[in-house]
Amino acid sequence: MRTTLKTIDYAVLQQCMHCGMCLPTCPTYDATGRERNSPRGRISLMRAIADGDLEVTTTFADEMSYCLGCLACQTACPAGVNYAVLFETARSDIQAANVDTSAKRRFWRALTLRFLFMRPSALHAAGRLLRLYQATGLEALARRTGLTRLLPPDLRRLEPQAPAVAARFSAALVAAHERPAGPVRARVALLTGCIQDLVFPDINRDTADVLLANGCEVDTPRDQPCCGSLHAHNGEIDMARTLARRLIDLIPPESYDAIVSNAGGCGSHLRHYGSLLADDPAYAVRARLWDQKLRDIQEWLVDLGCRQPAAAPFDAPTSVTYHESCHLVHGQKISRQPRTLLRLLPGVTLSELPESSWCCGSAGIYTLTQPDQAEKLLKRKVGHIATTGAEIVATANPGCHLQIARGLNDAAAGVRVMHPVSLLAAAYRRETTTCAAASRPGSSSSPPP
Ligand code: SF4
Ligand code: SF4
Repeated sequence: MRTTLKTIDYAVLQQCMHCGMCLPTCPTYDATGRERNSPRGRISLMRAIADGDLEVTTTFADEMSYCLGCLACQTACPAGVNYAVLFETARSDIQAANVDTSAKRRFWRALTLRFLFMRPSALHAAGRLLRLYQATGLEALARRTGLTRLLPPDLRRLEPQAPAVAARFSAALVAAHERPAGPVRARVALLTGCIQDLVFPDINRDTADVLLANGCEVDTPRDQPCCGSLHAHNGEIDMARTLARRLIDLIPPESYDAIVSNAGGCGSHLRHYGSLLADDPAYAVRARLWDQKLRDIQEWLVDLGCRQPAAAPFDAPTSVTYHESCHLVHGQKISRQPRTLLRLLPGVTLSELPESSWCCGSAGIYTLTQPDQAEKLLKRKVGHIATTGAEIVATANPGCHLQIARGLNDAAAGVRVMHPVSLLAAAYRRETTTCAAASRPGSSSSPPP
């Protein structure tokens, strides 16, 4: 059964007491100062629809498209309003009412949600094509000769933003089953993600290495489907359910101590399969078990008692700042753990980033559907990063990673973006070489503490 604003538990809608505590935390309200662009305004619109006083219209669709779904309002709300549920239900109603008349939005939705992210093989094929275009020099040639000017305006704007696709995907870097050198403390399944798999498969390798270094036996099942996060976030709830069932079939939750995600946006959705499949008698029980086993990598490492690396990740002392992915901090309430891990790293100083939990503008496909607002948020984020003087921005979501890296590159800031587990993995890898060098006769380096 499809949940709609008219059938949703009315208590969820009634919870908003119009106090306005969420307003200063909302990036779209901050941008316009208009009530309708605020969480409180949007909830009022949803309630009017539930009460039958308002139809689901194109204006409502525009309003909900402008909302980032960043959930900062949910963290700020003293009444515990579940904005995530309201947001997904509203977007689902918009889809069902077929009122989104923007041709651009419809095109991107069809290409991404209905086609590429429903078929891992199509996504991989598209990734390989893009890689071919980038690695053979065609991309550089097209830019040099001005061929890209022939593209439609939207594609012309997006072309330089296309992420660099990796030469090899996760299945080529991480074996289906890997065992730690020492005693096994836990058995985990590693989720490789979609964008993470195409663009940052090295982060999946780093995640596996960090898990192995902490005594975890790691299974990385092949041909993993998309988790459905983008679909749920954009109102395609039935597709999200289909993908959840496929993932549960591929990775039985009863077989693992934990199912580990290293992408904040995916993890936030992945840990709610129980409610997504609550009305499916064939999957409801396993979906609830899945939720119990689903862990963000940073949360899992801290709970397990992450081993402090005996070496620094780099030769020289390094300053790192941390950007919080919205769906990690607001969706999963994971904020302390990444900082705990970063503070474990020898030779690394953590400087706090102003507005670390303010959205960077990535927000799923927001850069495609709301490019102007996405760009403003990115510039704000890059400006804050510059004030920290950090050499590295750590962040744990591929969307944020790509968005911030592009902003830093455009600003020629000379700052790198890395996942916190990549910093840990670099430190563990250097343990062997650093310790070996220290123990060589005549070496002046002291062993790390
Ligand atoms: S999800 Fe983000 S953009 Fe949307 S209403 Fe809440 S704070 Fe504002
Ligand atoms: S903080 Fe919560 S209760 Fe207050 S206006 Fe915002 S959503 Fe409503």
